[in-house]
Amino acid sequence: MSDTDCQLYQDALLVGRFHGGEWLVDAIGPAKDIATSYGWNLKEIPSCEGTLLPPFYDTHFHWVQDDVRQMPKASLLEWLERYTFPEEARFEDPAYAENKAKAFWSRILGTGTAGGLCYSSIHDTALDAAMKYAPPCFRIGGAMMTMNCPDFLRQRKREAIAAARYGVETYGDRYCVSPRFAPTTHPEVMKETAKLANKNGLFQQTHLDETRAEIEWVLGIYSDIAGFEDVETYTEIYERCGVLGPRTVMGHAIHLEETELELLARSDTAIASCPSSNAPVDDDGLGSGLFNFEQVEERGIRWALASDIGGGPYLSMFDVMSSFVSQNRDEGVFAATYCKALYRSTLAGAQILGHADHKGNFATGKSFDFIECIAPPSDAKCGTAEELLLATIGQAQNRSEFDNFVLRTIIDGQSVFEKEPLIS
Ligand SMILES: [Zn+2]
Repeated sequence: MSDTDCQLYQDALLVGRFHGGEWLVDAIGPAKDIATSYGWNLKEIPSCEGTLLPPFYDTHFHWVQDDVRQMPKASLLEWLERYTFPEEARFEDPAYAENKAKAFWSRILGTGTAGGLCYSSIHDTALDAAMKYAPPCFRIGGAMMTMNCPDFLRQRKREAIAAARYGVETYGDRYCVSPRFAPTTHPEVMKETAKLANKNGLFQQTHLDETRAEIEWVLGIYSDIAGFEDVETYTEIYERCGVLGPRTVMGHAIHLEETELELLARSDTAIASCPSSNAPVDDDGLGSGLFNFEQVEERGIRWALASDIGGGPYLSMFDVMSSFVSQNRDEGVFAATYCKALYRSTLAGAQILGHADHKGNFATGKSFDFIECIAPPSDAKCGTAEELLLATIGQAQNRSEFDNFVLRTIIDGQSVFEKEPLIS
């Protein structure tokens, strides 16, 4: 699987085998051939009506923002102040965090997302609750915020560093060091926690160049901070703090200067692009702009798709794929195919997060993971993977339906979600 290659089997068998204590993909291919090679009678093998896909990876989202994803979004900074920060503050309460985590992680598995990179709130309570319910392929970090944010969400510098230490000591490399973004996280904190990340092989995630107003704001703030007076770009701030690197994922990265592209490429930093969150306000996004994947790919920068819940309005990666294709096509960027969107929503995410040896597609020997999603209409032309994805996604009457496209989710050979049949 790649940007340009996505193999479709119209009538296939996917075979899992319990091997060395785990369920692995043993074979995939045309049903007749596979059945013959195993000496099986096809009629005796259980069949399914839907389409089997690898589970999704969502490389940038905030699980603590699930309740604000539908709130009015006039602009990023206003939406954060009015809705997002007050909601995140509620996660200090362990009972609230526990209830929300249980419901959220069950819901995300129901949309077919089985791995990714996630922000929690500043509180240990929220991190503990998320780690309890999230499957192992999610890396999660508590957002660190020490300045330019409301008092009720502000950590002292030493508290933010202590929270990161608690994260790594308790959860090892499932913990992801997560300065919220340069305007809210003091550079001393970023420097200290970047060292912690490097020492322990942790991932780091933050936000970069999402909107022009944000860029102006951040450069204004750093022009008054000693050691940063001369920074010319947002990316340079992260570079000076040691945040860039092959285990770092920058959210958004829409408005990049040439020198920023060079810094990202040279440091092998990855990008999580969130098209449904960056979409025009009329499309329930924040109106931040369209990520230019071609300029990023030209420089060999790794990137994947992401929902950015709650900036993004829907959890389903089907919605994200749909938004990615339609926005790019509106701009005449026809390299934005559904196959590319699928690759960037599955294997590319697993590659960025260091899971691709055993996750991300149906290669033999990888974990026996799959989702079954609704079949395309019976009269649709589905000769290629591109046509099948177009016909599948085209069935949604409204975007909220994407959250119900998945019929079951299997991780490591175990069912973690099964849609209840409709009672007729
Ligand atoms: Zn975000």
